[in-house]
Amino acid sequence: MSEQTENTTATGTDPALAALTDAEKIALTGGADFWHTHGAPSAGLPGVMVTDGPHGLRAQQGEGDNLGLNDSVPATCFPPAVGLAATWSRETAAAVARAIAKEALAEGVAVVLGPGMNIKRSPLCGRNFEYFSEDPHLTGEMAVAYVTAMQEQGVGTSVKHYALNNQETDRMRVDVSVDERTLHEIYLRAFRAVVTRAQPWTVMCSYNSVLGELVSQNRFLLTEVLREQWGYEGLVISDWGAVVDRPRSVAAGLDLQMPADPGAEEALAQALADGEIDPAAVDRAAGLVLGMLRKGRAAHDENADYDAEAHHRIALEAARRAIVLLTNNGILPLPEERAEATDRPLAVIGDFAATPRYQGAGSSHVNPTRLTTALEAIRGIAGEVPFARGFAAGGAEDDDALRAEAVELARAAGTVVLFLGLGEDVESEGYDRTDMELPAVQERLLEDVLAVNDRVVVVLSNGSAIRLSPTLRSVPALLEAWLLGQAGGEATADVLFGRVSPSGKLAETIPLHLLDVPSALHFPGEHGRVAYGEGLFVGYRGLDARGTEVAFPFGHGLSYTSFEHSEVTARTAADGIAVEVTVRNTGERAGREVVQVYVSVPGSRVTRAPRELKGFADVELEPGASQRVRIDIPAAELQHWSTRAGAWVVEAGTYRVEVGASSRDLRGSAEVELAGDEPVLEATLSSTPLEIAEIPGGAEKLEQLMEGTPFFADPELRAMGEQIPVGRFTGLAGFPREQIQEFLDAVNAR
Ligand code: BGC
Repeated sequence: MSEQTENTTATGTDPALAALTDAEKIALTGGADFWHTHGAPSAGLPGVMVTDGPHGLRAQQGEGDNLGLNDSVPATCFPPAVGLAATWSRETAAAVARAIAKEALAEGVAVVLGPGMNIKRSPLCGRNFEYFSEDPHLTGEMAVAYVTAMQEQGVGTSVKHYALNNQETDRMRVDVSVDERTLHEIYLRAFRAVVTRAQPWTVMCSYNSVLGELVSQNRFLLTEVLREQWGYEGLVISDWGAVVDRPRSVAAGLDLQMPADPGAEEALAQALADGEIDPAAVDRAAGLVLGMLRKGRAAHDENADYDAEAHHRIALEAARRAIVLLTNNGILPLPEERAEATDRPLAVIGDFAATPRYQGAGSSHVNPTRLTTALEAIRGIAGEVPFARGFAAGGAEDDDALRAEAVELARAAGTVVLFLGLGEDVESEGYDRTDMELPAVQERLLEDVLAVNDRVVVVLSNGSAIRLSPTLRSVPALLEAWLLGQAGGEATADVLFGRVSPSGKLAETIPLHLLDVPSALHFPGEHGRVAYGEGLFVGYRGLDARGTEVAFPFGHGLSYTSFEHSEVTARTAADGIAVEVTVRNTGERAGREVVQVYVSVPGSRVTRAPRELKGFADVELEPGASQRVRIDIPAAELQHWSTRAGAWVVEAGTYRVEVGASSRDLRGSAEVELAGDEPVLEATLSSTPLEIAEIPGGAEKLEQLMEGTPFFADPELRAMGEQIPVGRFTGLAGFPREQIQEFLDAVNAR
């Protein structure tokens, strides 16, 4: 870079930025290698290390890769997002994030690449295990808790994958077409929550394309929505390899391309020299990266360390809360009986008991600090419990022989705990599942075991919903243990024996059949395109709208105790609605209950799902104890995206608040009137009488206009006329144009 071109792009607001050469600024907009950014030596700022991932650190000190192929330093493997979300506990998300932040500081990592926040549009998405929920409210709440807690420790986050990266099929190219309301209300809502409430240091832009433009060069998403609408102050980092044209990306709002790409640096220098990119865009990007370097340096601590034992306990507590008890005929909890002391001991069957499935494959793969299997943990409580694999989790073995051995064991056993689930090869980053089925060998094993022993408890390990066959649904007890991280085995044993009462709730519906899923006919698209044809009706929203029967509804989860919800009240509060409910533990054990608040607007003038989750809280109660729980629903949660106003609005009207233990177990309700904040529309020649009637005073003025007109005297014509733009009345109903204009002026004068 020549002397003359130095500083040409400086804005002057940041002296360190102003002092950089163009070449230094350009360098800041790209990675130095796979996991490091460039520094700004002249500003005394070294580059920083960024690393995956959401449920534990994957810090690679050797050769980098983003597919989890090469080993990383040992780190605590917390429950992946699928498990963390099932806790419905902000406190748990925060505890996990704080612990990961400490490990990041100890490994010299400035930014952790997570959390993953994409909405589970289909159970088939290969990366669902890395995402929280089918619901944007739950997703947003978990992400806000996670990001806030991590950043309080001085470690940055990268909320990902912004945006509409809801499938792995053709993920690098697929173009998503989505209507405006669905875009904002379902797919952007949680990102908006985390940006406005927690200001993540970085937002990771996804690989895919949205509405005809790659996200990495999508000005609408990276600048208009993120910065102009939401006031985002941090930087946009690319997903690894998402950028194809750095100048275009930087111009659109991308700040940091990862990993290193020397050719892209040259292209940006050329574009700048040729005047093809606004120097202010390069300044913005470099300035934001400088800001991240400063924050990274401020938290850097050569002596940082962490207590691996304490972190394992945090992972254990999170895993205990994540397990969802789907059914129980009373067989659980199991008695803590020593196997040696009985002639019909408990038996454990299923390869996953000894070879646990506790995380997913790909870039989030963590090398755990320790791992206790469920079998070891069960034996720790119940002595030398016999075990048979029953099937080979990795495939390629004689399943008939394994099954025969397991059935013999089941025959002699008092009770069987059977571990079933999906192998790591089925659920991975980079490709989607092709069906929702449990492997056929496992279904067969279940049937054969049930034929010789009817006291069977099934524990499932899977990263996304699977179809639960009628046989599975009818076992005496069914635990959905998702993926639980390195302490999952101990957590499962604790729940099985009642050392902990289960309290997880479903963050995703378990449908009866794949074809019931609202997106099923629109997933994953073809030839590089996918249309989100189910619109707003993702997950339970669509299932409830159609009244479709499900295996287990969104929010469902049983306990060893029971809870009563009573005295639901709702009133307008300073910012939205304040809901209160009394929760009482009516059983005989201590337990945690997640109270859920769903909102609907019965007379709404816009399309809505029958109910939407808008708030939740968890309470821990001793037997017999009760607590008045208050749940605030801020106005931002009540807003819908108005396509007429091009903005978020709260509709005026009656809001119905339903409180319960799941989306289909609603125990009480209340109603509240909201004034709303919809802007009054200007009446124009294109407005219909129906729209004009919504404007204060509009209805009366319409009546005056129509009075005595033969066209409107006829009820059928009048009904037809209500949907005709008033400008057309000149020809259709014989009004002089001036009269229509005077009428509009009067309506607008109000
Ligand atoms: C993934 C990201 C990840 C990145 C770095 C990509 O393949 O999509 O989630 O953070 O690699 O490993």
